[in-house]
Amino acid sequence: MLTMSASPTETIRIDFTLAINGEPLAMAAEVPTGPTNLTQLLPVLNSLEDALLAEVVSHVQAEGRSISCRAGCGACCRQMVPLSIFEAEALSNWISTLPEDRQQALAARFDQSLRQLAAAGLIDRIVHGDWLADTDSARQLALDYLYQRVPCPFLEDESCSIHPIRPLICREYLVTSDPAHCADPARLQTEPVHLPFHMSRALSRIGALVEGTQRGWIPLLFLFAWRKSGARPGEAVSDIGPKVLYLFVQQLVRGNNFPDPA
Ligand code: SF4
Repeated sequence: MLTMSASPTETIRIDFTLAINGEPLAMAAEVPTGPTNLTQLLPVLNSLEDALLAEVVSHVQAEGRSISCRAGCGACCRQMVPLSIFEAEALSNWISTLPEDRQQALAARFDQSLRQLAAAGLIDRIVHGDWLADTDSARQLALDYLYQRVPCPFLEDESCSIHPIRPLICREYLVTSDPAHCADPARLQTEPVHLPFHMSRALSRIGALVEGTQRGWIPLLFLFAWRKSGARPGEAVSDIGPKVLYLFVQQLVRGNNFPDPA
């Protein structure tokens, strides 16, 4: 009989393969052998995302293009950031570990940003959700939001102050065009890097299943309001580490063939 220890320090290596541009990409993850949940597994997913994006970037460079995203360019950090509810939970947990004065300073920055959005009538529009109905409406809301120039509260000196734990969707935003274009996309064409897989979307799809809603994410600026709910979405996706990872990869490659675990 195979028994698995519940010790959180025991891990097992899981190997699997993703196909990128027809080429196999070997992925490896160390996950707990015992009980865990999707929120607790986020550091593993961040590492997988970084490995995946490194491969994508090397393909871009092999084509003679280069990524123009740099530390000190916060142009994309004034967009609405769809934050999966699992990442919202993880960031909420992280905020709880900060000194009280740091938490209050962050809360004040979120509040200031929300007031700016509210004054522009954007909170009502976002909450109402009509903009989700079609691509044009979603694009218009995204532009209206961006042109308010409301910085992400985690942006400090035009750099991400939570860079190691930044959301998956922030990692996935890569362009080869002039950074100035990201600040004015209605006039200037941006050239985003095509990604074969969007881990952020996979998380949000699982979040939508957990919530029974269409989204499974919140605008990042709603984080402090959301954390007051005390929601613990990760607990709804709990199992031994390999099974939680498998569930995530299933969503990631949805539509592709992926064998059942042994
Ligand atoms: S979390 Fe960091 S990378 Fe993402 S929008 Fe905020 S400042 Fe930018």
